[in-house]
Amino acid sequence: MRTDVLVIGGGPAGLATAIASRLKGFDVTVADAARPPIDKACGEGILPAGVAVLHRLGVRPSDDDALPLRGIRFLDGGASVEAPFQFGPGLALRRTRLHQILASRASELGVRLLWGTRLDDGSKLPSCRWLVGADGQNSCVRHAAGLDRASWEFLRFGFRRHYRLSPWTDFVEVHWGPRCQIYVTPVSPDEIGVALLSRDSHLRLDSALEEFPELQKRLQGAEASSAERGAVTVSRRLRRVFRGRTVLVGDASGSVDAIAGEGLSLSFHHAIALSDALCSGQLASYQAEHSRLARRPAFVAGMLLSLDRVPWLRRSVLRVLALKPPVFARLLTSLAVDQH
Ligand SMILES: Cc1cc2nc3c(=O)[nH]c(=O)nc-3n(C[C@H](O)[C@H](O)[C@H](O)COP(=O)(O)OP(=O)(O)OC[C@H]3O[C@@H](n4cnc5c(N)ncnc54)[C@H](O)[C@@H]3O)c2cc1C
Repeated sequence: MRTDVLVIGGGPAGLATAIASRLKGFDVTVADAARPPIDKACGEGILPAGVAVLHRLGVRPSDDDALPLRGIRFLDGGASVEAPFQFGPGLALRRTRLHQILASRASELGVRLLWGTRLDDGSKLPSCRWLVGADGQNSCVRHAAGLDRASWEFLRFGFRRHYRLSPWTDFVEVHWGPRCQIYVTPVSPDEIGVALLSRDSHLRLDSALEEFPELQKRLQGAEASSAERGAVTVSRRLRRVFRGRTVLVGDASGSVDAIAGEGLSLSFHHAIALSDALCSGQLASYQAEHSRLARRPAFVAGMLLSLDRVPWLRRSVLRVLALKPPVFARLLTSLAVDQH
């Protein structure tokens, strides 16, 4: 069996890349070790720029699948500041639903989907012209191609759980605490996702929530609708994202801390950029575009991580911004959090 593009990893980055490449006329095969619908610890918010890319790929989650996200709210102690997205809403939906939607779009376009197929388990995979590593943070493809060298790497830990509860807001809420952030995403009319991010690998949601009494009160009595699930969140910049005919997308190709909420949007942008580069056969142009795409999210994540490290600064900044909400809105716009 032969294919033009063999994508290892059928998560959001791999499926988006498969869709984008298939739309350019390539024969595409995706192999993933897991079976659908694939879940992952995630905040499950997609920024407006990511939603725009999904639309370009012909992926339009229905109102039954996803909730619009109107903006971002930061809370710390008594201070709260929020700003709506300036260029249309983002989206929030369960990862399992996102996976089903992306997989069915890929299948409708004629992408060959090989589930339960690992790169490294001796499974028979088609030979290919281009090999795409979309196999996440611990990418085997990256390792095998000798692309592991990073100029920058920093780890934190994330845990998420869902609660059967009507959302009280259509904003993503980021609650800042002394040891962690907890963010809340309304993922359906009767369910919210609660995700913890911290530098402490031992910290779990229940003990972290004790530092957020108001949030804890809101969750009191609500039934947990999923088990607590964890993942590392990595700030990583790779020196290179391709070698020969092997190329990386999504988290396999480097990532920013989850606090920026950019991972999915970036993955979708990689998909478009790579499909363009495959058409021209110039992976160097993908490398250049990949670096350009990474710059702004890395800056935003770096700034937010500084606020995590210096609590007194964060509290002062939030208190000042809470007095002047339009300044926070202008800040989000100038950081272009909702566009690329
Ligand atoms: C706690 C947390 C919260 C987050 N919140 C947000 C958020 O709110 N918004 C946002 O945009 N981003 C968020 N992110 C980031 C986002 O989850 C990732 O950027 C996104 O999942 C990257 O997609 P991916 O397809 O590159 O990788 P993955 O989703 O990890 O998919 C990789 C796929 O590769 C497969 N695979 C792995 N190894 C092999 C192998 N050897 N052979 C075959 N298949 C293999 C896996 O089964 C998996 O399906 C968050 C991350 C964390 C940890």
